[in-house]
Amino acid sequence: MRAMRVHATGGPEALGLEEVPAPTPGPGQVQVRVAAIGLNYIETYQRTGLYRLDLPFIPGAEFAGTIEALGPGVSGWAVGDRVATAAGIGGYAELALAPADKLVRVPDGVALKLAAALLLQGMTAHYLAYSTFPLKPGHTCVVTAAAGGVGLLLVQIARACGAQVIGLVGSEAKAALARDAGAAEVILYMREPFAPRVRALTGGRGADVVYDSVGASTFEGSLDSLCPRGMLVSFGNASGPVPQFSPLTLSAKGSLFLTRPTLGHYVATAEELAWRSGDLFTWLAAGSLTVRVDREFPLEQAADAHRALESRQTAGKVLIIP
Ligand code: NDP
Repeated sequence: MRAMRVHATGGPEALGLEEVPAPTPGPGQVQVRVAAIGLNYIETYQRTGLYRLDLPFIPGAEFAGTIEALGPGVSGWAVGDRVATAAGIGGYAELALAPADKLVRVPDGVALKLAAALLLQGMTAHYLAYSTFPLKPGHTCVVTAAAGGVGLLLVQIARACGAQVIGLVGSEAKAALARDAGAAEVILYMREPFAPRVRALTGGRGADVVYDSVGASTFEGSLDSLCPRGMLVSFGNASGPVPQFSPLTLSAKGSLFLTRPTLGHYVATAEELAWRSGDLFTWLAAGSLTVRVDREFPLEQAADAHRALESRQTAGKVLIIP
């Protein structure tokens, strides 16, 4: 089968198309014929070596497709079932593996491409807004990269929770998308320091929570945007990892809370996986949540998909099609 494999960490050119043996499902695993792969920023961290994986590896945790084979001990699933996962193994390929207990059934009427576009970033937005800092009417939240894959979904979900959303975006075009998704205010954070604007927009108080996926370049500004006892949810490093800092900073800036969550810990049980994915598909069917697919790349152009994502050209989801 065809797969994109990384033998040495580096730039996008580290992704090379290869003919490799089809993976065999082990105990508790299924083999999936991949219809669409969801590109996620984490794959750029893995490719560069910021997050270390054993070499060589085939990236790709998020994909949707149909079950081709069941490993030993798998029950409740059948060959031909339409499934998606955000915890798959070797997704940049024609065939990939997934733990059976991390599969989600794709409802009839939902295209596999749409499922691959929604699941990982949607469940991320869900846990951020419902569990990490549960949003309620009256809250003000700041969302960085508000027109990104996670961003556009988080803006919609935060708005639906009744929160006022201030979106940070990199361009006018992205500002329009964030506004359409439900952001009451948008700030072009490349053009002006955003913390004073957040303060002005909140009558001097500051935001209750900042959901920050940008990392190094926004960390200080995010802390400075918070109200006393507000929470910084640092959930990504698109501009690089946050440098080391002293916890005393949190007291000096208003007894702030800082957390660095990751999706795996928020879909650790079958109940949480079913809750979050179920909500997403329900909202999708009701039309209250929309997924913007920015563009699709064929598998052999996965390196170009990475280039587009890392150069901030994309707004919404990027799909890779094997
Ligand atoms: P996005 O679609 O949001 O793309 C990244 C965006 O970050 C860019 O479009 C850009 O938006 C912004 N950005 C700001 N500075 C930079 C920079 N220096 N280089 C590149 N981009 C920059 O990606 P995803 O939705 O896939 O992921 C968003 C973030 O969320 C990532 O950091 C990812 O790791 C994280 N994440 C974390 C999860 C978790 O559970 N912890 C789960 C899923 C994602 P703009 O032009 O508007 O500034």
